Amino acid sequence: MTRITGLPPYDPQNIFARILRGEIPCKRVHEDEFALAFHDINPQTPVHVLVIPKGAYVSHADFSAHASDAEVAGFWRAVGRVARDLGLESAGYRILSNMGEDGGQEVPHFHVHIFGGRRVGRMVP
Ligand code: 5GP
Repeated sequence: MTRITGLPPYDPQNIFARILRGEIPCKRVHEDEFALAFHDINPQTPVHVLVIPKGAYVSHADFSAHASDAEVAGFWRAVGRVARDLGLESAGYRILSNMGEDGGQEVPHFHVHIFGGRRVGRMVP
């Protein structure tokens, strides 16, 4: 498959790759064929969970361009399921993904943040 240009190569030593391999512990809330979800180590809201795909994708740009339809569907279904299982649906929650330098992404393995447990502020850049 042709990789889109301008993206950094995937670093197999990034912290989430190491969590996926079980080299670093995490507080897991869900795992299936396509995704792993665990509590953020530095929570910004009472519930702050990260959902990551099992595949090696740097960011949403990489994931949306190169993941299979099954991976994309499986991943986003897992995001919804995690939020539901955490009991966030009735009060609501925010999902967010930082992409690249301008997006403020720190860990170069695609991930979605789920924020919940309190009302969050208006979304401003
Ligand atoms: P980003 O800025 O890349 O979107 O967010 C990365 C997130 O990963 C941050 O919210 C940070 O607290 C979280 N994080 C960084 N290292 C670890 C870790 O070792 N374990 C867990 N559970 N979360 C981490």
